[in-house]
Amino acid sequence: MSYDNENIFAKILRSEIPCDKIYEDEYILSFKDINPQAKTHVLIIPKDKYIDIADFLQNANAQYKTNFWASVNTIIDSLSLRDKGFQIKTHKGKDGGQEVFHFHLHLLSNS
Ligand code: AMP
Repeated sequence: MSYDNENIFAKILRSEIPCDKIYEDEYILSFKDINPQAKTHVLIIPKDKYIDIADFLQNANAQYKTNFWASVNTIIDSLSLRDKGFQIKTHKGKDGGQEVFHFHLHLLSNS
């Protein structure tokens, strides 16, 4: 499977469709999930093109991975979730329930 430039998150990254942005830096974009499954439900996506977490783990370089996770850490603090608690989920592939084929983390919390 190759990366589809017309997936919805690619369009959000190109600002072709809007999102409810909560954080952005050089490496990632984070925005509210359009169909929230918890009081806080945000998506965190790398700006580079990775289909899913397996693609990201296999093909992103060490520096990009480090910066990606540092940005995730920043978002956890910006939403004041460090002490309150949260879930991080990701879907990989059709059998893993993935619907949008641009790697993303779901960050969920009841606070
Ligand atoms: P999945 O690929 O299974 O991790 O699910 C994709 C997620 O993206 C779902 O939770 C959707 O509600 C969410 N989603 C789809 N389109 C948008 C959009 N335009 N803006 C924000 N979230 C979206």
